[in-house]
Order: sequence, then C-alpha cells, then structure tokens
Amino acid sequence: MNIILLGPPGAGKGTQAQRLVEHYGMRQLSTGDMLRAAVKAGTPVGLQAKAVMERGELVSDEIVSALIGEELDAMGSGVGAIFDGYPRTEAQSASLDDILAARGRKLDHVIELVVDEDALVERITGRFTCAQCGKGYHDKFEQPRQVGVRDKCGSTEFKRRPDDNEATVRTRMAEYRAKTAPILPIYEARGIVARVDGMAEMDHVTAAIESAIGQKVTH
Ligand code: AMP
Repeated sequence: MNIILLGPPGAGKGTQAQRLVEHYGMRQLSTGDMLRAAVKAGTPVGLQAKAVMERGELVSDEIVSALIGEELDAMGSGVGAIFDGYPRTEAQSASLDDILAARGRKLDHVIELVVDEDALVERITGRFTCAQCGKGYHDKFEQPRQVGVRDKCGSTEFKRRPDDNEATVRTRMAEYRAKTAPILPIYEARGIVARVDGMAEMDHVTAAIESAIGQKVTH
C-alpha cells in the first residue's frame, strides 16, 4: 500500500506516519527528514537546500523527486510507502505518478489532515525532540515526565528545528496554501482522498486514518 499524508506544517503528518510505520511495517518517506539529513551531512543537495529551508520556502521539485526515487529504490518492493511532506506541488504530484508507475506501485490513499492554522503556530513553535531517538515533545502539551530528562532513553539532549520559529512557520503555511493545497483536486478526481480531523486527540487521528485506509491496529 502507498499513501500520502497531506496537510500544512504541524498538522501531525510525521507523528501519524511514525505510528503507521510501527503498526504495519510501512516505510515513512519524509522529504523534510531527507533534506535535514543532507544539510547535516553537508552534501551538495544539503548545501543547496539549507537557506531555502531556513526561509520556509520550497526546495526545487527536481531535488525532492530525485530523493524520493532513491529512497523507494532502496526499500523492498513489498514494503508500503507513506509519503510525508511530498508531493508539495503539482509538478511533484506528476513526478510521483511516474516514479510509482516505473516501480510497479500505485497510489492507494491520500489522507488530508484538516487543521486550524492558527492553532498550528502554537503547535509548531513549541515542539522539540529527543536528540537521540527523535521522540517528539511540546513545551505546552507534552513535556518529558521528569523535566529535562527524556522519558525512555534518559537522554538530556533535545533539539528544535531552526525553521520552527513563527516567521518561518507563516511562510511555510503560505507555501502550503499557494502550492500544495491546489494538488488535492487531482487526487479528489481519482476518488482516493479521505479527510481526517487533525485537531482531534492523536489516538483518534490514528484510528481515523486506519479506518480510512481499511486497516486495523494489529498490536
Ligand atoms: P517538513 O519537514 O516537511 O516541514 O519540511 C521542511 C522544509 O523542507 C520545508 O519547509 C521545505 O523547505 C523543505 N521541503 C520538504 N519537503 C519538500 C518538498 N516535497 N518540496 C519542496 N521542499 C520541501
């Protein structure tokens, strides 16, 4: 199964993708994560993407589509893909069709996480993660149980994304409205879009996604 999680920054795509990975052994393909890794490693792609990402603008379609193709090639053909943060433009949507077709895959579902944009700014600017395992926390909604110490692994190092500040978040939202939201009708015409309330409690969002894709939690 191949699915797209679509929604503005902070809608919960990453969190929900991780849950689908845990429940069904699917693979999360996050172009944001791939680009951050490239920036960290200082690769040519990373060097090109860094400033664009810091401004909250979109990296070129060619770069992200190439990353997606490489990741798909690196995973087994029987493993399902969850596209998180890709496609983000009409050109990327067309590329994804080609990329999937060339690999004998097809798109099964597009899940749109419907959210209230004003609440998202608070969600995003407060979020941080464990530097070791990537578990997500939030200043207001989910502090580690013991302040300053990561719950499970005991790590005391946390990190925040440099683009999770209010000014950049506003640009990222504007990019979403202008370039990403217009791709929804493409998938609506194919009858594969399911709308899920992304403001609901996290477990409810997961349950709604699982019901939309016709899967039951197996744990
Ligand atoms: P994300 O982690 O999905 O919020 O992405 C972080 C940043 O990476 C975005 O603000 C963009 O600058 C860049 N980015 C991630 N995915 C894409 C994409 N599919 N197309 C263009 N830029 C992207």
